[in-house]
Amino acid sequence: MLVFSLLALLLVSSSWAEVDVATIEEDTSRELSVGELLERANRDRHPGPDEPTLIGGDIAIKPGADRNADPCTSRGCLWQKYTDGKVYIPYYIANHYSSREISIIKRGLESFSAVSCIRLRPYQNGDYEWLSIESRDGCYSYVGRQGGGQTVSLSRQGCLYHSTVQHELLHALGFNHEQTRSDRDSHIKVYWENIIDGMAYNFDKINTLNQGTPYDYNSVMQYEKYAFSKNNRPTMLPIPNNNVAFGTATQMSQNDIDRLNRLYKC
Ligand SMILES: [Zn+2]
Repeated sequence: MLVFSLLALLLVSSSWAEVDVATIEEDTSRELSVGELLERANRDRHPGPDEPTLIGGDIAIKPGADRNADPCTSRGCLWQKYTDGKVYIPYYIANHYSSREISIIKRGLESFSAVSCIRLRPYQNGDYEWLSIESRDGCYSYVGRQGGGQTVSLSRQGCLYHSTVQHELLHALGFNHEQTRSDRDSHIKVYWENIIDGMAYNFDKINTLNQGTPYDYNSVMQYEKYAFSKNNRPTMLPIPNNNVAFGTATQMSQNDIDRLNRLYKC
């Protein structure tokens, strides 16, 4: 009888274990912070000649662009607002995504309508500026409106998460990384000695569009503390208290939303 019970228990627990493993695997990736997801996806890029240069990990720049200038403050990069007060941004989604992947992308696009005057809508004939969402080499976007079709790369290998979609769209809407804010040295300490050789430029400060909002450790535009580390030691930590939660966002924060609404005067 005891043997039978044990066997039954084993059978039950092994089927539970299968369910658990599947759930845990999914939960683990879902709980990774946006910075961890972006770094994981972009770590092993082997960009071909048709791929743009990236700075800051996932920001595409055009050839000859000034890396330290915010294109939005130097030449204007906002998307046009219509007479009804909404900012309609056409998007095209490449046909190489699965329906599950498309639903993740669309959920990300639609998340902006709920909290701002930004409206992403499908590309129509005659549109002259649009986001072309494609699975290219890694996750990346240009900062702000570029004119014509501009690529937002959401690779099928690692970029299809709600947080990464929101992050890349915030770049396309004109935002940079939290850690490159001009006032960041009052809020984080950068440990230059721990940064991978040749990657210090990822921490160059930029004249960012802060819109009067405070530095936000929980911004979806804030990378995590080991970003670009060569030795598993932190490359940035919050000051004065190193222990506050930092770089763990999995979606837009209220400050991200406030900044967006102020930039576009929603
Ligand atoms: Zn980014």
